[in-house]
Amino acid sequence: MNQALTAAPVLAAALRKMAPFVYRCPNTGLRVQGFIAEDPLDDGESYEAITCLACRRLHLVNPVTGRVLGEDDE
Ligand SMILES: [Zn+2]
Repeated sequence: MNQALTAAPVLAAALRKMAPFVYRCPNTGLRVQGFIAEDPLDDGESYEAITCLACRRLHLVNPVTGRVLGEDDE
């Protein structure tokens, strides 16, 4: 019995649920890839609190648009 084979479908399902997105860190200006555990809502208005890998602070990011709440370059 190959445990890797039996675990593969579960892993694939878990990866499908992880929704990767890219945002621009407002503190460092770097493009950062983030992951959220759930599918983002399709309304384009939901912001997710994620810990930034670039500056290690918390950002509110819209995973649909990649916009960061509080970004001041508008
Ligand atoms: Zn950041």
